[in-house]
Amino acid sequence: MQVNDDDNVLQLIKSATTGKKKARGTTKNREPVVGADEYSQQVEQYARRIRETSDVNEIINILGTVLGETRSLRYSNEVYSAQEQVRHAEKQIESLKQELEQLRELVHYDPMTGAFNRRGLDAVYQREAARADRNESTLCAAVLDLDDFKQINDTYGHQFGDDALIHLTKIAKESLRPSDVVARYGGEEFVILLPDTTLESAVWVMQRLQNNFSKKALTNMDGNAVPISFSGGVACRQFRENQKSLLKRADDVLYQAKKSGKSRILIAPVNEYC
Ligand code: GH3
Ligand code: MG
Ligand code: MG
Repeated sequence: MQVNDDDNVLQLIKSATTGKKKARGTTKNREPVVGADEYSQQVEQYARRIRETSDVNEIINILGTVLGETRSLRYSNEVYSAQEQVRHAEKQIESLKQELEQLRELVHYDPMTGAFNRRGLDAVYQREAARADRNESTLCAAVLDLDDFKQINDTYGHQFGDDALIHLTKIAKESLRPSDVVARYGGEEFVILLPDTTLESAVWVMQRLQNNFSKKALTNMDGNAVPISFSGGVACRQFRENQKSLLKRADDVLYQAKKSGKSRILIAPVNEYC
C-alpha cells in the first residue's frame, strides 16, 4: 500500500502567526507542514497568548484554533501510537472552551434575578438598534423603578425585597414577548427593551405588567399580600439614537412619574419615528 505523503503529516501550519486556520489548498499551495515537535511549540505559543490576554472572546478563539489543530493530529501517522492522548487533550480543550463560553454568557446576566445586567443590556442594545435601523422598525425602551422600595425593605426585611425583585423579573418575562428584553439596570431599577413595538403599545404592555405584578403580589409572613408598584418612563428610539440618549429620555419621564405621585407610566415626547 502506498502512503500519500500529504496525509502523513500534521496540518499544523499557519496559525502561530495569524491565529486563524487557512483553507487547505492543493499540495503545491500548502505552506510548509510541521511535525509533532512544532505542534507542542505552537501550543506553548497559544498558551502564552492566552496568559497575556484578558479578553474572553480571544481566549475562546485561540482554544477553537488549538482544538482544530489537535483534531488534525488524529490523522497523523506520526502520532498514531499516541491517539489516546490526543483524544484526551481534545476533550480537555473542548470542555475548557465550553466552560469559557458559559462564563461569557454568565457575565451578561444578573445572578440574583436572571435578568440581563448592564453589560448584557449593552450587547443586546447594539444588536436590536442595528436591526431597527436596518429594517426601519421601532424599538421602545421602558425604565422602571420600584416605588418606596426602601420602605418595603425596612418593613419586611431585605430578603423580602430581594424576593420582590426576583418576582418582578419573573412576571415581566411571563407578561412580555420572548423577543422583549428585561435587564436589571441598578438596585431596584429595570430597563425593558421592546423591539417592533410602537410607543402606544409599549405603554399598554407596561401597564399590563403593572397589573400582573399587583395581582400576583408576594405575601408577608402573615400571608397578607404586600402591594408593590413601580413607576416607569417609556421612550421610542429615534433613527440611530444611542442607548445613553434613549435611556436618558425614558429616565427623564420616569422622574416626572415619581414627582407626580408614582405608580404610573409616562411617555417621553413623541417623535417622527413612533
Ligand atoms: P422611590 O419611590 O422614590 O423610588 O423610593 P425608593 O425608596 O424606592 O428609592 P430609593 O432610591 O430611596 O431607595 C431604593 C432602595 O432600594 C434602597 C435600597 O436599599 C433598595 N435596594 C436596592 N437594591 C436592592 C437589592 O438588591 N435588594 C433589596 N432588597 N433592596 C435593594
Ligand atoms: Mg431607584
Ligand atoms: Mg425606587
